[in-house]
Amino acid sequence: MPPATSTSTQSEPLRVLFATSECAPLVKTGGLGDVSAALPVALARLGVDARMLLPAYPSVLAQLPACRKLAQLAPSAGLPASSLLQGRTASGIPLYLLDCPEFFDRPGGPYQDESGSDWSDNALRFGLLSHVAALLASADSPLDWHPQVLHCNEWQTGLAPAYLHHASGARAATLLTVHNLAFQGIFGAELVAALGLPPDSFHPDGVEYYGKLSFLKAGLQFADAISTVSPGYALEIQSEPFGFGLQGLLAARKDCLHGILNGIDTSLWNPATDPLIASRYSADTLAAKAVNKSALRARLGLASAADVPLFAVISRLTEQKGLDWLLEIAPQLLALPAQLVLLGSGEPELERGFAALAQSHPQAVSATIGFDETLAHLIEAGADAFLMPSRFEPCGMNQMYSQRYGTPPIVRATGGLADTVVDCTPAALAAGSASGFVFHEQSAAALLVTLERAASVWRERATWRALQHNGMARDFSWDASARRYVEIYARLTNNR
Ligand code: ADP
Repeated sequence: MPPATSTSTQSEPLRVLFATSECAPLVKTGGLGDVSAALPVALARLGVDARMLLPAYPSVLAQLPACRKLAQLAPSAGLPASSLLQGRTASGIPLYLLDCPEFFDRPGGPYQDESGSDWSDNALRFGLLSHVAALLASADSPLDWHPQVLHCNEWQTGLAPAYLHHASGARAATLLTVHNLAFQGIFGAELVAALGLPPDSFHPDGVEYYGKLSFLKAGLQFADAISTVSPGYALEIQSEPFGFGLQGLLAARKDCLHGILNGIDTSLWNPATDPLIASRYSADTLAAKAVNKSALRARLGLASAADVPLFAVISRLTEQKGLDWLLEIAPQLLALPAQLVLLGSGEPELERGFAALAQSHPQAVSATIGFDETLAHLIEAGADAFLMPSRFEPCGMNQMYSQRYGTPPIVRATGGLADTVVDCTPAALAAGSASGFVFHEQSAAALLVTLERAASVWRERATWRALQHNGMARDFSWDASARRYVEIYARLTNNR
């Protein structure tokens, strides 16, 4: 079924429903939470009537206790009844909360239980989220407010474009943003009926993926447009290995596949005003950054030798992030000499590896296993350089935070990392663009060579200052990216 013709006029704001499974600080496991918090606000600044659909997890209800019930939603196929609550984010974005206690009122995270295992009913939980997103974007919506564009995010809302494709009546245009193609929402074929998808949707040009049901593929197949979170990643996912099996479909849809770099929240991540760091500073007062290094070392029990660079990592601990290479070359890194601060959680083997490293080198290495927003800010301010040796990275946020905090990032040349960090070459230094260190080869040896290079540049204080200044002068705000989204929305609605 084609989308409805646009009803927007010069004086009428474009109506966009942003459907997501995370929004910081209400609920966040990674970059999607940051994007959901910031992009709708940037869109609103551009005059878009942006509203958000989010599951009513306990952490969300605890932070927004005064939400009122807006509509009761009937059960559908194997999906239970639910209701919509009305709220508003702290930054003023109208929020529709999908309340279904049997699906969302439980301890643990949004996708996993407290032991880190995926919830066994994730297909139905996020099938419901997708179904309600599609309902609100259709003529059958119980609300008075009808979006012209439904902006879906990740596999958790990937079924929405498929539901709309198979529905009748006017509907909003759809955009699906892929934040990480490694997560696809693949489930057994037997769920097709319970999710209320028509049986004939289960074929290779529909929601089927090698005999299984794929939420992400459904979205990529049926969304009117697709975007991903950096231009580099938009290219990488059209071929192996980073297409993760979907490269053919993505290449076939390349004319409506857009790479738009994420921005960062420049008020939350601003060393000149950050209340979570020990001493605030700007590019003109970089000497005060040293106070943060001392505070970080003191807090984590590291030795305070003046002439030792401090490298930092804040990350999910997964194979994607390339931190196994860091463990491999840790002895050589510490021999430079250097110190290492890590904050992260994830795969038990990596958690154990970094905890053991810290235990055997308590003066030089600190490993905090867990999620700690406050410590993350102090690390950005206190470290000398920030490490992201990712195998792949759709966009990445911390390399941008780091540049803003005068903490040059050391990254592998992939996806958004390659798009946002300029390697410290003589030419880039002369041009005033060098802002960090970039390596190409996927190996522990290549990482070590780059760490050695960074440690030696760190000793050339004037060059290091130049790197810091160049990074701090970059504009990573959401404004330019939000404009690109508005262009896509406008094209989608005007095309109809
Ligand atoms: P991804 O989405 O793949 O996890 P990104 O770099 O895009 O990676 O975003 C990660 C976000 O989550 C950043 O804001 C980062 O600071 C934050 N983060 C990751 N791990 C932790 C942690 N253990 N404690 C605090 N913040 C974290």
